[in-house]
Amino acid sequence: MTDARLHQPRPDLDQARAELARVFGFPAFRGVQDKVLTRVLAGHSTLAVMPTGAGKSLTYQLPAVMLPGTCVVVSPLIALMHDQLRAATANGIRAATLTSADTDRGATMDRFRGGELDLLYVAPERASQSHFRELLESAPIALFAIDEAHCVSEWGHDFRPDYRLLRPLLDYFDEVPRLALTATADAHTRADILDQLGIPGDGLIIAGFDRPNIRYTITPRDNPMRQLTRLLAEQPGPGIIYAPTRAGVEKLADQLGATGRPVLPYHAGLSPDVRAANQSAFVASEDMVMVATVAFGMGIDKPDVRFVAHAGLPKSIESYYQETGRAGRDGDPAVAVMLWGADDFARARARLGEMDEVRRAGERVRLDVLASLVETAQCRRAILLRHFGESPPETCGNCDNCLDRPAVTNVTDLARKLLSAVYRTGQSFGLGHVEKVLTGAADERVMARGHDQLSVYGIVGADEAALIRPVSRALQARGALVQTEHGGLMLAGDARDILKGDASVDLIVPKTPLKAEKPARRRKGASAAPAGDPGDDPLFAALRALRRDLAKEAGVPPYVVFHDSTLREMAALRPGSLDALAEISGVGARKRDAYGDAFLKVIGEFGDG
Ligand SMILES: [Zn+2]
Repeated sequence: MTDARLHQPRPDLDQARAELARVFGFPAFRGVQDKVLTRVLAGHSTLAVMPTGAGKSLTYQLPAVMLPGTCVVVSPLIALMHDQLRAATANGIRAATLTSADTDRGATMDRFRGGELDLLYVAPERASQSHFRELLESAPIALFAIDEAHCVSEWGHDFRPDYRLLRPLLDYFDEVPRLALTATADAHTRADILDQLGIPGDGLIIAGFDRPNIRYTITPRDNPMRQLTRLLAEQPGPGIIYAPTRAGVEKLADQLGATGRPVLPYHAGLSPDVRAANQSAFVASEDMVMVATVAFGMGIDKPDVRFVAHAGLPKSIESYYQETGRAGRDGDPAVAVMLWGADDFARARARLGEMDEVRRAGERVRLDVLASLVETAQCRRAILLRHFGESPPETCGNCDNCLDRPAVTNVTDLARKLLSAVYRTGQSFGLGHVEKVLTGAADERVMARGHDQLSVYGIVGADEAALIRPVSRALQARGALVQTEHGGLMLAGDARDILKGDASVDLIVPKTPLKAEKPARRRKGASAAPAGDPGDDPLFAALRALRRDLAKEAGVPPYVVFHDSTLREMAALRPGSLDALAEISGVGARKRDAYGDAFLKVIGEFGDG
């Protein structure tokens, strides 16, 4: 490119800091944001792996404001683009989306050609078309930002063939730097993204995967309705509950609606209109619970989600990290709760059998990590982070196991009895039958099969009988017991080692579900009152009420006006002027001008407290 702008001096990090304060109202960069920006502003292509909530979008929105030309953002979902557009516009950034859902496409293209856009959001299938390339030739481009970049990799957990079509466009504009962004990618996937998008190896920047404000709690599913009802009672603020099936979603949404909390369902079986309406109701709400299949969430950029619950086992450890990552993006305390059962593992292992061999190997590793995550008595966060290649401390202080270390019993002996009974009954019966044999039940079917004649008949005493199911669950989680297609149990994995005495089996003694945490030992940053709960601060409550009114008036969700953390800071510092207000984190120039007077008025009414 012979463009004159190439000869202009490139902006540096000090200028970026000034713009950060002016546009976003933030006093400093977080995490690796400055590292990423240094590369982007210098014109180098980069892959940034940053956890959700670490401020990924800022790493292209800020250059978009600073560099001459438009930043083209490739994003996989229209809803996600519209969320981003709303937030960027609220900060005074000149942005537009070019999607099939937009009726102002002509005007947007004119704005692009006229150099009036800092940001242009587009889906990969549009970006790869020739007329889009022609459009891009009509005005300078500052940067290509490729969001959710793991979609380009077949190794990733969410491959999208459309992402593969981007490369010719990127290569055509070879002098424009590329910034690929993702929140979840293991080492293999990261290497593949670099390769697929033509980014040099030294362009990889990895932030830690840790989301310290999320508390992980994982517990066996025992009475999901009761367990989830209790969760709702303990957690104010918006939340998502993932259920594995549409029917499960409908049932849970229906029953949880009786708690008095606003609850809506979301799954692929609902009409697009209903889905869109439910989604926007959730995004705008401050206390709604969305019961959904995993179809819900990828397009959601709602920062104030206070909990994410899984009513069944997630698809993979990556999915779990990504789905739970939708909680607490604003940095305030949030919880992630998983309820799991042995049948979840049976189904997951059956699915493995249906895959081709290449995929199966990777998926088996993912499932095994998931099994160790649910079965561990150790820190959950440590297992998650190790999977993503980190070396976390042994304890985090903010997961159920760290807050209340569970008791562990060695149940190898009982496990051997169970495995032996499964083997001796011919590996074709379900747990119910095996349990009857082990406990010596006078059951007709047991007698008819002659199973009362086996050496394992009645070898489990009354004191141990209650542990048969938990032990079976543990064996299924680790893959030593699997279900046949007819629902019978059979030996697999390391079952033979256990039988021979070469491997041991520990059982985590289940705690009272969801009641395990003790508030005394919370880690720094996790306040005692649940976030999103105004508690007993009337000023904070009044600021929230004002925010609600302003958001309604502007037709945006409340968090687009200000985050809870910004309101909390206002309530604590009680600024008395626009200048003082602008010092608060999250108050940029545009928002100070638009909302400043209204918030100062409410603060003024509270006097000196
Ligand atoms: Zn922990």
